[in-house]
Amino acid sequence: MRYGQRASRFIRQFSGPGDHNGIVCFKFWQLIPAAGCPYRCSYCFLQTVPRFRFHPEELSGLVYTNVGDMLQQLQEWLIHPIPRMMIVGELQDGLVFDPAFEKVTGKPLTHWIIPPFARQGRHRLIFLTKSTEIQHAIALPPTRQVVFSWSVNAEEVGRRWEHGTPPPSERFSAAEKMKKAGWPIRFRLDPMVPYPDWKCGYSEAIKRINALEPEMITLGALRATSYRGLRNAAKANGRDDSIFDYLTEQKDPSGFKYRIPFEKQVEMFRFAIEHLKAGITPALCKEDKALWKALGLKFQGCHCLLGARDGIVGERRAEMAATTTRSVPPSKALLPVIA
Ligand code: SF4
Repeated sequence: MRYGQRASRFIRQFSGPGDHNGIVCFKFWQLIPAAGCPYRCSYCFLQTVPRFRFHPEELSGLVYTNVGDMLQQLQEWLIHPIPRMMIVGELQDGLVFDPAFEKVTGKPLTHWIIPPFARQGRHRLIFLTKSTEIQHAIALPPTRQVVFSWSVNAEEVGRRWEHGTPPPSERFSAAEKMKKAGWPIRFRLDPMVPYPDWKCGYSEAIKRINALEPEMITLGALRATSYRGLRNAAKANGRDDSIFDYLTEQKDPSGFKYRIPFEKQVEMFRFAIEHLKAGITPALCKEDKALWKALGLKFQGCHCLLGARDGIVGERRAEMAATTTRSVPPSKALLPVIA
């Protein structure tokens, strides 16, 4: 674990996959209190992020200690009049650094950033994690302004390709404790992998999800921006690269990412949606509109948004309408019906 001062801004808006394609993504807001991750998932895209390729010693975790700057920027962001969601866990695991923050800044990260969200009723914060380090967060009074979201998987996928992480069963237990304590929870069932016994593994995971009744579940399947690049990086980092045997050398229709075969992805997502309890909202993340169409899904918000009424959805729709009018053929225009 490394420690340092962050010179650039702590809050960034995701630049997105670009406008002129069929990838459905809204440019979510992210907080960057740390970078990297001590876990060693084979498929982790952080392995190909330029910063970590040039500074491999930071891949296992870099905690930014100038929390005063972070809180100042957070206060400014919270003034915005339109409700928005802030995510922690895009360029790092969102919760695993909580104890490290306590050690070097005197307070866990959760104790720095949850109270400002709890004091207002407009914006929400979401922690995305595979960690079970909930001991500090659970000591705070629960608030609906803060969501905890676990990335979960079939036990076998966790065992084979998510090295160093708590097994999915322990992540479910952590989620259960937080839910019982009164906190909103979500899940990402991601990345789904079509290993031989996937139906059995995922039906077990979905049973746990159903029992916990999260406010949303986001589905994702194995993917990579660079087919060879990510596999080679995993190999160079001593991670099991056999997971990439399931990836094809074909990109989605938008040319955004290499994916598992399209029909298999549809089959797996359909399986998950059919086994989900009524009332749990399914969502997709950065997927091509061809997939939304094949699944017959309507957009009702996504993991990093408050819902279909999030401020960013309105901004994005206005942008798309303007772009479509100017230059983009209607067939390329974004996308799904907003429910
Ligand atoms: S937990 Fe997330 S951030 Fe950490 S190694 Fe795995 S995929 Fe990467």
